[in-house]
Amino acid sequence: MSNTLLLDYKKKINLLEKYNKFYYQNQSPLVSDKEYDELKNEILQLEKKHNFSNLKSPSIKVGYKPSKKYEKFKHKVKMLSLSNAFNKEDLINFQKKNINFLTLNKNYEFEYSVEPKIDGISASLSYKNGKLVKGLSRGDGEEGEDITANLKTIKDIPLKISYTDFPEEIDIRGEVFIETSDFKKIEKDFANPRNAASGSLRQKDPRKTELIPLKFIAYTFGFSSRMKVDKQSDFIKNLNKWGFKTSELNKTIKGIDNLVIYHSEIEKKRFSLNYDIDGIVYKVNDFSLQKRLGLMATAPRWAVAHKFSANYSITKIIDIDIQVGRTGALTPVAKVKPVNIGGVMVSNATLHNEDEIIRKDIRIGDTVKIERAGDVIPHVISVDKNLRNSNIKKFIFPKKCPCGYDTIKEFNKITKKIDAVRRCPDIGFDCNRIAKEKLKHFVSKDALNIEGLGKKVIEKFWDLKFIKFPYDIFFLNFQTISKLEGWGSQSTENLKNSINKSKKLKLDRFIYSLGIRHIGQENAKLISEFLGDYSNFIKLKDQKNIDDLSNIDGIGDTQISSLKNFFKNKVNLKVVSSLGKIFIFEKSIIKKTKGVFSNKILMFTGKLNNISRAEAKSIVENNGGKIVSNVSKKLDYLVAGDKPTSRKVQMANDLNVKILNQTDFEKISKLGQ
Ligand code: NAD
Repeated sequence: MSNTLLLDYKKKINLLEKYNKFYYQNQSPLVSDKEYDELKNEILQLEKKHNFSNLKSPSIKVGYKPSKKYEKFKHKVKMLSLSNAFNKEDLINFQKKNINFLTLNKNYEFEYSVEPKIDGISASLSYKNGKLVKGLSRGDGEEGEDITANLKTIKDIPLKISYTDFPEEIDIRGEVFIETSDFKKIEKDFANPRNAASGSLRQKDPRKTELIPLKFIAYTFGFSSRMKVDKQSDFIKNLNKWGFKTSELNKTIKGIDNLVIYHSEIEKKRFSLNYDIDGIVYKVNDFSLQKRLGLMATAPRWAVAHKFSANYSITKIIDIDIQVGRTGALTPVAKVKPVNIGGVMVSNATLHNEDEIIRKDIRIGDTVKIERAGDVIPHVISVDKNLRNSNIKKFIFPKKCPCGYDTIKEFNKITKKIDAVRRCPDIGFDCNRIAKEKLKHFVSKDALNIEGLGKKVIEKFWDLKFIKFPYDIFFLNFQTISKLEGWGSQSTENLKNSINKSKKLKLDRFIYSLGIRHIGQENAKLISEFLGDYSNFIKLKDQKNIDDLSNIDGIGDTQISSLKNFFKNKVNLKVVSSLGKIFIFEKSIIKKTKGVFSNKILMFTGKLNNISRAEAKSIVENNGGKIVSNVSKKLDYLVAGDKPTSRKVQMANDLNVKILNQTDFEKISKLGQ
């Protein structure tokens, strides 16, 4: 048992090391910060519970070893990380522990130097006789990378300091970061500003570092020769005087309640700062107390980082965009001031639909709380109406699709209510927005899976008027494409090959690729199995043939009426028939047709005992039978379990369809075994 646990522990340590390498050295995190922190926590729990230890453990190591690309140097004083607090309770515990450690009166209130936790990467600048002589990255806390040349390109870093009270020898430490406005220019290459700052700072060629304007804010020191300062807040004042930039948000605060108030105040205005912060750092202000409290393995005992939530953030709505999906649904999307939620930059949040906007009274210019949890699309949770400007107008949801069509709200037969979703009524390719989305769907992974023809390429080819209908993809002019910016002969050749490869496909993929509303992968499979080949599929242009599909178990009125709508449209018909001439359809595996239910059509109603519907269905199909979901003359058997739908039984009786109970059904099935 404990062997398995130990193996599991080691596996987790190795996985965390891998994440560290990608994060600290390659600036391309493999997982979100939340996932990383969860794994780290699992490791710490295992160590606590089972006394496990490992030299690479996050309980004794910070960061990641220096890269071989740089010369490495030992820090004279270790560069540590910070312990975290997430709520008031954590802060009370932090203070209590320190009071106990110092055996102070239990009501003692520390004075804290309160500083924003800038989300960049730390650097240590060694000055000798007022001259910057070396600049190191944190590395693994003990040894850093020599990035002096790169750091010297940062304008905020003084190269020479001539104040008489500037220590003869001192390592000034602070954060190298990128301003939000500069991050915007390179955001496609990095997950967040911190990765961007790290990537730019650790360039092999300092001239490349210089291209991206990095900033530096100082906040502490490592080694220092004699210095006459007693408090962190005074040291910060000195930093300012010596020519370093410090944060305008620094202040001193006493009392946990006041820390919490300041934290929430800053959290609310975080989005308006021109640099990214991921929390607030509280440091015991008195240096003599700091010295007595000392250091733990990976963080000082005298400081704590009160982090912002990794699930939500507060920001401002800059605009509301109306997006049109491939089935015509109009989805409002809030364009927000970018915020970092758990390591991921969020600049869009869904507002779901018109009703949601009305219900929450969401307006452009509002300060909102947005949530991003797991794989869920970021969404607006609430509006802070106290922060609303009085001249902000109500948002009126457009009644027209951007293509010009009047939108509609459908009546949902199942819920018996008008749908919350507003739709563009176009079912063909008239609406440009829908047509473009249909193309994206057509080439997507589960449809034609054309590599090299992702969403961005579709957008580009669309703008260049290369494509409008799915079949246009098969008549692209590759010579023209190879001359486009960003395209070469190799990528054009690859695209040509993957388009050609996609011409061979199964009928169900083809049906799915058409993007017919309510016909997802599962339904496409059912229809393809029922119809067998393309020649039967194209026959659906005759509306009465579509009715036959209601015999398929799983295809109901909604799907039938959607198919009828689709085939009614002439452009859709042209698309289907043109594609039919381009594609070579692979034969589907023919289901076994021999067996006790050979060529028989069955239907189930009511609950079966000790056997699921899916299992019963597979028994029928494996014995050559077919399952349908409607009672009709064509039905051979209606299998009635417990509490069958009386209307169905009645209809079967009227049509002289044989009714089997579960025992009869099982008896016949057994004959086939
Ligand atoms: P940290 O960034 O949470 O906190 C310590 C750092 O805060 C210091 O090193 C310093 O650079 C910075 N800081 C900013 N302002 C400061 C101030 N005023 N005073 C003191 N320090 C200040 O700790 P860390 O060990 O550098 O990194 C851990 C974080 O990185 C976690 O949030 C973790 O999720 C993330 N991470 C993510 C991945 C991933 O794969 N997603 C991998 C590794 C680490």
